[in-house]
Amino acid sequence: MTFAATILTLYPEMFPGPLRLSLAGRALEEQKWSLDTIQIRDFATDKHKNVDDTPAGGGAGMVLKVDVLAAAVDHAKRMQPMAPILAMTPRGKPISQTRIRELSDGPGVTILCGRFEGFDERVFEGREIEEVSVGDIVLSGGEPAALIILDACIRLLPGVMGAASSGTEESFEEGLLEYPQYTRPQEWEGRTIPEVLRSGDHAKIAAWRKQMSEDHTRLRRPDLWDRYNGDRD
Ligand code: SAH
Repeated sequence: MTFAATILTLYPEMFPGPLRLSLAGRALEEQKWSLDTIQIRDFATDKHKNVDDTPAGGGAGMVLKVDVLAAAVDHAKRMQPMAPILAMTPRGKPISQTRIRELSDGPGVTILCGRFEGFDERVFEGREIEEVSVGDIVLSGGEPAALIILDACIRLLPGVMGAASSGTEESFEEGLLEYPQYTRPQEWEGRTIPEVLRSGDHAKIAAWRKQMSEDHTRLRRPDLWDRYNGDRD
């Protein structure tokens, strides 16, 4: 089954963008996923094709108009009735690998990209839309955020990644960060690869990796570490 991605944007030329290359690009050619862009401006109703207007109450910037957004969202919903609709917004729920996995297991995803100051609030009241953030940063538009979500979903689709295990043994999949990786040369600027990795003792290697994962998570991401320990209790 093809994973159907639909992007609502004022800049359809930004897609597939980097997803034209490498793993995602090959998967697109092989029709493991499909891409449709919807130009939000096509749903403007006035003769100037306005999509934005000044904020009620005053202030800087422009706000995307609710009637235009809703018409574009309704159109996307008719095209892909089963796909969840995500809106990219800094105040949304931070995206997680768990949510990415759920999305990639589903029929596809519809992503609404903001610009300017963002969306008229009423679109979230009048339509079923999941607000998602890609981190505590502010982008100039939702398009790079949509590319992040798509990239993360596509690599998990069946047959996209080489070895099946490379999907599950990764940062966040077990609630931990990944252990450090090494490859040849054995010695570089006086630094060697940890001896245990050359021992051939698979149990010992697995134990070392687990320990490193836990150490790194505890030191670098106390938030993940607390959750990991909470889950084990
Ligand atoms: N005024 C908004 C920021 C608007 S940035 C605020 O203060 O919250 C313009 C658009 O970029 C947003 O509508 C959103 O679609 C996108 N965007 C910016 N930062 C983002 C983030 N961290 N995650 C997801 N989308 C983001």
